[in-house]
Amino acid sequence: MNTALFPFDNSYARLPEYFYSRVNPQPVKQPTLIILNESLATELNLPTERLKEDEQVAVFSGNRIPEGSEPLAMAYTGHQFGHFNPQLGDGRAILLGELLNNKNERFDVQLKGPGRTPYSRGGDGRAAMGPVLREYIMCEFMQAAGIPTTRALAAVSTGENVMREHLLPGAIITRLSQSYVRVGTFQFFAAQQNFQAVRELADYVIARNYPEAAPSDNPYQALLEAVIKRQAELIAQWMQIGFIHGVMNTDNASIAGETIDYGPCAFMDEYHADTVFSSIDRQGRYAYRNQPPIGHWNMCRFAETLIPLLDEDSEAGAAIAQQAINTYPDLYQHSWLNGMRSKLGLEQQNDDDEALINNLLAIMSDHKADFTLTFRGLSDPDLLPEALKHAADFQQWNNQWQQRLTIETRSEADRQAAMRAVNPLYIPRNHLVEAVIRSAEDHGDFKPFHDLLVILEKPFQKQTISEKYTQPPRPEQVVQNTFCGT
Ligand code: AMP
Ligand code: MG
Repeated sequence: MNTALFPFDNSYARLPEYFYSRVNPQPVKQPTLIILNESLATELNLPTERLKEDEQVAVFSGNRIPEGSEPLAMAYTGHQFGHFNPQLGDGRAILLGELLNNKNERFDVQLKGPGRTPYSRGGDGRAAMGPVLREYIMCEFMQAAGIPTTRALAAVSTGENVMREHLLPGAIITRLSQSYVRVGTFQFFAAQQNFQAVRELADYVIARNYPEAAPSDNPYQALLEAVIKRQAELIAQWMQIGFIHGVMNTDNASIAGETIDYGPCAFMDEYHADTVFSSIDRQGRYAYRNQPPIGHWNMCRFAETLIPLLDEDSEAGAAIAQQAINTYPDLYQHSWLNGMRSKLGLEQQNDDDEALINNLLAIMSDHKADFTLTFRGLSDPDLLPEALKHAADFQQWNNQWQQRLTIETRSEADRQAAMRAVNPLYIPRNHLVEAVIRSAEDHGDFKPFHDLLVILEKPFQKQTISEKYTQPPRPEQVVQNTFCGT
């Protein structure tokens, strides 16, 4: 029986030492708890009241290493904007250990911003408050919206400044993942031609995240197929909610199929498929419309690392990899189409559905209609963007949609309720997130942050709150660019 307050069990630390570097967080001057995710703590069987005591807040700041923790930084590499970078790894994250929740699911517990590691290269290993609050908001919203994501357990301010373009207050986020193994983790060993290590890593991932692959005739093939499926489904969900990750490098592609490494990510207000927010994505490689093919590209990089495991004969291995990779477009399309059908309240399947959906998107794009309010407005017409309400092309589309609804069998009330359960009313709009960050950074006022989080816990449910939380930004509030905070 593990009696430690954090009952860590550290399977990654039991892997061979070439998987990571052991490194301790570096203490900070004055840790102060900004937020503790009490419901998540409860799921992890952690005593929420005690976690707010200074002694435990010191754990979330890296000032104290709790009993049972074996801090380490994970080794990985990756393709950044298409170019292979052989030297990455957790440059500003430290894995404290793993915790099991009340369903016996295992989570990595990581500090982001705890100081330098052997992989920090030129960086300071620290995080600024803005990106920490942004990550907290984004991932907890994704969770509430039913999209696979890492979680946020706590955020602390450090009482120290970090130097970016100018001095910013520092912070640390404690975040959880079903596994922080990335496509880039596989690439790290494959690049060294260390296929023994690739095999150890694959075995680890199968045992931990894909146990259903283990009894297969070819477990590595089953793993590859399952990872590809989860990735395709994840990206379909991003597309359905207007999410733009912003840095879909292979080191930010989770093997467990979660949305990870929230950096300059953002939600679209006005719909346009070419939308890019990230200030570093100058070519638009990771624009909204490119996310599905980039997911495919990232899965190709993953598949390549497994070829020697898939068959003793490398040509046969490559053929298996290719076959698995070829499933991605259909898996994505199937998942996207079904999700979009749900957004339109369609339970039945009709050959013309895809055209109906694409026509709507084209009209939204032409009228610069708000993504979120357009879909919500299909069940709550008051919310429909003004630009659509009187547009002839939208009226015509609406007639086609009404016609299409006649083959549905649900009552109108049931259909509308189902649509409200998949089309959020509240999302973390850029200007809202920005306002929260400004209050926190400039005035030390975290109330807007807490208020926004409470609203985003129930993104589908109409709440009696200010209309500003549903409205797109006024022109002067529009956020053009987002920054990863590196
Ligand atoms: P990202 O795109 O934010 O996931 O980061 C890419 C790589 O840069 C990862 O290896 C990070 O650990 C590293 N990195 C980013 N910011 C910092 C920093 N301030 N200090 C050290 N390493 C960093
Ligand atoms: Mg990253």
